[in-house]
Amino acid sequence: MAKSDYYETLGVDRGADAAAIKKAYRRIAMKYHPDRNPDDPKAEDKFKDASEAYEILADEQKREAYDRYGHAGVDPQGAGGGQGFSGGFGDIFSDVFGDVFGGAGARGPSRGSDLQYTLEITLEQAVKGTTVKIKIPTNVSCDTCDGSGAKPGTSSSTCKTCNGNGQVRMQQGFFSVQQGCPTCRGIGKTIDSPCTNCRGQGVVRQNKTLSVKVPAGVDTGDRIRLSGEGEAGPAGTIAGDLYVQMSVKSHPIFERRAADLYCEIPISIVDASLGSEIEVPTLTGKVKLKIPAETQTGKLFRMRGKGVKPVRGSVTGDLLCRVVIETPVKLNSEQKELLEKLRESLGQSKHAPQSHTWFNGVKKFFDDLSS
Ligand SMILES: [Zn+2]
Ligand SMILES: [Zn+2]
Repeated sequence: MAKSDYYETLGVDRGADAAAIKKAYRRIAMKYHPDRNPDDPKAEDKFKDASEAYEILADEQKREAYDRYGHAGVDPQGAGGGQGFSGGFGDIFSDVFGDVFGGAGARGPSRGSDLQYTLEITLEQAVKGTTVKIKIPTNVSCDTCDGSGAKPGTSSSTCKTCNGNGQVRMQQGFFSVQQGCPTCRGIGKTIDSPCTNCRGQGVVRQNKTLSVKVPAGVDTGDRIRLSGEGEAGPAGTIAGDLYVQMSVKSHPIFERRAADLYCEIPISIVDASLGSEIEVPTLTGKVKLKIPAETQTGKLFRMRGKGVKPVRGSVTGDLLCRVVIETPVKLNSEQKELLEKLRESLGQSKHAPQSHTWFNGVKKFFDDLSS
C-alpha cells in the first residue's frame, strides 16, 4: 500500500517550520492517542501514521532525505534508505508531550519522598521572623553501610533484570514504554549480603533536629522548602525535600489580613463625645491615637505602616483600629444622677442625628404598612 505524504498526514505545508510541525503532530496525537480511543483501530492507525511522519519531519536530516527522495529516502526497505524509521516512540513522546501522559519513560524511584511539617508560630514570630528548632522522624542514610545497603566489605552487584539501567522496556500495544525496574526498584543494583543495621534498605528511622529559619512576614499557608531534608531515598539516590508549612496562631489583640493588621479598641462614651488621645498597641510598641470629638462607634482609624511587611513584596501594610464605644457599667448613684441630667438635657434630636434618621425611617415603615 502506498504511504501517504508525511506533510499531508500532519496537515502542514512543505515549508512548515519545526514548531508548526510539532504543534500539528501534538494536535493529532492528542486526538487519536490509543489511551483516549480504546479499541478503535482507525484512530490507532492515524496515531501511528502521524507519529511516523513526525519522527521523520522533526529530524532535519531525515526530513531533507524525505524531501529529496520521498519515502524511499527514509524507508528502511527503500532503495535510497539507510536511515530507517527507528521505532520506539519513547523519545519523541517525552519531547512533544512532557508530562501530558505521565511521560512514556516513567522512572523508578530516583529520590526519597518529600516530607511536610506544620510549624505553629505566633503572630509576632511571623511578622519579625525567627529561627525554630524542629524534630522530625525521618529515614536517614545508614551509617554502617554508608547508605549502600550492602554489608560492609561486600558490594552490590549490577541488577540482572535491567542490566543496571534501573529501567525496563515494556511492550504496551504497538509502542514500548519505559518503566522502573521491579527487581531493583530503579536503582540498577541488587544487594547479595544486606547490611544488618538497615536490613539492606540503606536507610534507618531516626529523629533529626533541624533549625528552620522563618523569614519575616510569613503567613499561614506559606511553605519553606528545605532541600534534601526529606526522606533519604533508596540506596544510591538523593533525599527528598522537607516542606515546612506555616501556621500562625491567632492573636489576642490583632487579626492579620494580608499585609494589614486589625484590632478593636473600646473607648468610653465620654472620650467618644468630647474627643481624647488614647494609647494603641502595635507590634512594635504603643503609639498615641487622637480620637476626635463626636466619634461614632465602629469608626476605623488607619495607622499607616504599622502593619506587616509581607515576605514577598516590599510595602508594609497598615494597622486598622476600630473603636467601639463601651457602655459604662456598675454605676454609683451620683453617676446615675449625672446621666439622668444628661438625658434630660439631650432630649432633642439634634444631638443624635443617626437615631433621629432611624426613628423617622421606622415611623415611615409603619405608616406605609398601614396605608
Ligand atoms: Zn546499612
Ligand atoms: Zn533492575
